[in-house]
Amino acid sequence: MLEPVHALADPRYDAVDLHCHSLHSDGALPIATLLERAEHAQLHFFSVTDHDTLQGQAEALAMAEHCNLNYITGVEWSAVWGSYLVHVVGLDFDPEAPASVAAVEQQARSRRRRAQRIASKLEREGYTGVKEWLSTQTNVESIGRPHIAAFLVASGQAKSSAHLFKSVLGAGKVGDVKTEWPDLRDVVSWIRDAGGQAVLAHPHRYKMTRTKRGQMVADFAAYGGQAIEIGVPGVLPEMRQHLVALAQEHALMGSSGSDFHHDEQRWLSLGKVPPLPKDITPVWTRFRTA
Ligand code: AMP
Ligand code: MN
Ligand code: MN
Ligand code: MN
Repeated sequence: MLEPVHALADPRYDAVDLHCHSLHSDGALPIATLLERAEHAQLHFFSVTDHDTLQGQAEALAMAEHCNLNYITGVEWSAVWGSYLVHVVGLDFDPEAPASVAAVEQQARSRRRRAQRIASKLEREGYTGVKEWLSTQTNVESIGRPHIAAFLVASGQAKSSAHLFKSVLGAGKVGDVKTEWPDLRDVVSWIRDAGGQAVLAHPHRYKMTRTKRGQMVADFAAYGGQAIEIGVPGVLPEMRQHLVALAQEHALMGSSGSDFHHDEQRWLSLGKVPPLPKDITPVWTRFRTA
């Protein structure tokens, strides 16, 4: 058992980061580098939560044996709540539980179907070799638009990923193909059935009214969700108050994470999350290793 390092850490931050991404989804860094950085930041609890895949988890767990931190299994599932695309972070679940294995299969199938539809659309727009390239990407579980963009840039068909999102891949463009994501209720069950903590990711980021946000959090709690993210960089004071009130109203815990993807996100860094308010129970007090 590790000694808590909170006391050593900067009091402006909690010594946890329970939301970030690796190369296995749309992050830029390999698992090993993320763990090195987390250890350097003296984190007590750390989780890599790639979109819709558990491909990095075994490596992270194995490497954490030799690191001075507690590694917590993590994922960020895509789901829908009504017409909204929402994200649910799963923490401290069994990645080998039948619910986890079935969840990965379902999400990977949806993503691959969508990638094929995007590839067809792009070829109709004049891009070449997308379908053929896609057929070689069988080991990428969480295939998405960033991978397709990277291929088009690497094959000299576009200047940058940013350009592609502006012209063909971004919201409302030809390559913005909707996926049939599972219902929020089902995703909460996947996490709970695998013994984990279901955390509503970045509730402040969904473009909805306060009333809608309240309804979403109420449904999430009713489905068995346990926590919402509050300790997130860049949440304005008024929104933070709103999230704290929602957590209290629905007896939800709080979670914290940077949502780090790569170093170009200059406004945040791995392991730097604002502390949770004292009257909110941290989700990490429920971890099996806590
Ligand atoms: P997907 O998983 O296929 O829905 O792609 C979503 C991912 O694409 C996000 O997580 C971002 O990493 C990336 N992305 C979304 N919008 C943009 C954009 N405008 N420019 C660059 N990357 C983007
Ligand atoms: Mn992402
Ligand atoms: Mn997200
Ligand atoms: Mn994320």
